Amino acid sequence: MSNEADFKFETFEEYYGDVREVSKIINECRLCGTKLIFTHLSDYRNFFVQETSQCPDCGGNHKKMIHILN
Ligand SMILES: [Zn+2]
Repeated sequence: MSNEADFKFETFEEYYGDVREVSKIINECRLCGTKLIFTHLSDYRNFFVQETSQCPDCGGNHKKMIHILN
C-alpha cells in the first residue's frame, strides 16, 4: 500500500497550451524529446489505473500517475 505514495494524482492544471503542446508534454521526454513508453497497471478493485512513463532513450522523465476510473 505504501508504495503508492510516490504516485501522484493527475491534475490537468499542470497542462497548459493547446492540444499539441499538451500531448507533447504528456507523450515526449522533456530532456531529449523521444516518445515515452507507457505502462499501465489496472487496479479495478480500487478503480485506479497506475500509469508509469519512461524515456527509452535517456531513461529520464520517469513519471508515475494515477488515473481514477469513473
Ligand atoms: Zn529522454
